[in-house]
Amino acid sequence: MQFSLFNTLTRSTDVFVPIEPGKVSFYACGPTVYHYAHIGNLRTYIFEDVLRRALEHFGFTVQHVMNITDVGHLESDADAGDDKMALASKREHKSPWEIARFYEEEFFKDCEKLQILKPSLVCRATEHVAEMQEMVKTLEEKGFTYTVDGNVYYRIAKFPEYAKLSRRNLEELLEGARVEIDPRKEDPRDFVLWFSQSKFPNQIMKWESPWGVGFPGWHIECSAMASKYLGERIDIHAGGVDHISVHHTNEIAQAEGCFEHQWVNYWMHGEFLVVDKGKMAKSAGNFLTLQVLIDEGYDPLHYRYLCLGAHYRSQLFFSLEALAGAKNAFEALKNRVISWKLSPQKGNNPEKVSLYGNRFWQALANDLDMPIALAVLWEMAKDQTLGDEEKLRLMRDFDKVLGLGVDNFARPTLPQNLYDLVLKREQARADKDWQLADTLRQELVAQGIQLKDTPSGTDWYYVY
Ligand code: AMP
Ligand code: ZN
Repeated sequence: MQFSLFNTLTRSTDVFVPIEPGKVSFYACGPTVYHYAHIGNLRTYIFEDVLRRALEHFGFTVQHVMNITDVGHLESDADAGDDKMALASKREHKSPWEIARFYEEEFFKDCEKLQILKPSLVCRATEHVAEMQEMVKTLEEKGFTYTVDGNVYYRIAKFPEYAKLSRRNLEELLEGARVEIDPRKEDPRDFVLWFSQSKFPNQIMKWESPWGVGFPGWHIECSAMASKYLGERIDIHAGGVDHISVHHTNEIAQAEGCFEHQWVNYWMHGEFLVVDKGKMAKSAGNFLTLQVLIDEGYDPLHYRYLCLGAHYRSQLFFSLEALAGAKNAFEALKNRVISWKLSPQKGNNPEKVSLYGNRFWQALANDLDMPIALAVLWEMAKDQTLGDEEKLRLMRDFDKVLGLGVDNFARPTLPQNLYDLVLKREQARADKDWQLADTLRQELVAQGIQLKDTPSGTDWYYVY
């Protein structure tokens, strides 16, 4: 099966061919740990998790690297505004180091609840300042930089392919760069590689450097760490769509300036989670955390299921109604799976089993078309010509990419009063009192309990 992915660089869905057969180097931009991740951020990590799981299903060994931004990210993705870590430090009266470690831990707790696989390697920006400085030095030697007041700037006029990822014209790029004009810049589109103390005189996180004591710009961390761990040629680099025009564009300028050849083959971007017609953002103050959803009575997997229902390249409108819909669908699926696990009927329809399998994985192979894959799953789940055991086998296979934890789906305990009804009905059946047995079944159905009579007795499961 050919695996194709939409590549932002080419703006087309391209067959995925790794640099080294069977192996994939995959870098995903990680969180800025100055606050809890919001559910929009988490949508992007769910998309990247699906991508990784799909690659693994298609037989690739994936080296998945993710950074932790614990220094250098200013309020705007360009060089404007305050330092996010310093803002959090003021807000919470803690050192930026304490802030960073706390929110990093919280981030991974959220990921675990969402069954997002841990990257093969996680690297913190603050632990790679030396590598970043090395890269800045190389760029300096090659004439890509200039230094004013201890700030080192990237001179984008030296990199003619600057707009190749964003495809933005000069005017649009200038528009984005006009937020806060830094008179030291030769061109407003230039960006900072190294800030000296001059930007924030009271900066707590700072390091010695050949250009003065200071801290790195945000973009250099990803170029330096991705190439340290994955090399000068990388298969896939991913992030949210907001990274296309500034962060990833600048990452390319830095890395390709250093290496003088193409750095990443496939650039992939997940669309935004939006609320009330706007993107969810920490700075906009309209953000929800996973914990808020849990406090509202949802299982984190309800949110995962909601995200799976939208294509990763489409915006997803979040509302509690939409989440409630995802909850219903997820619980209904879970209860079906539980019913298949109970004394499963074998079934004998191998052609159909392989057809469903092919259709499901074909959808994934076509740029991770999860909505189609879920439609195939539901068709399979409702297909009365398949046996429970066949359905369960398919579901376990699909779960490799869904990550819903099918193996953990278990029947909850039945309240004693309902269990007594099940036993009473069994007795009625044994006494051949069909009328009473039927009345009792209906009583149970009214409480959301379905019964399954098997040669070895009666099983029950919840319907949702
Ligand atoms: P940050 O922690 O701000 O560096 O962002 C972490 C990831 O979340 C990045 O890949 C962003 O592109 C992504 N992101 C930010 N806002 C949203 C949103 N509303 N929906 C989806 N992804 C987002
Ligand atoms: Zn990055």
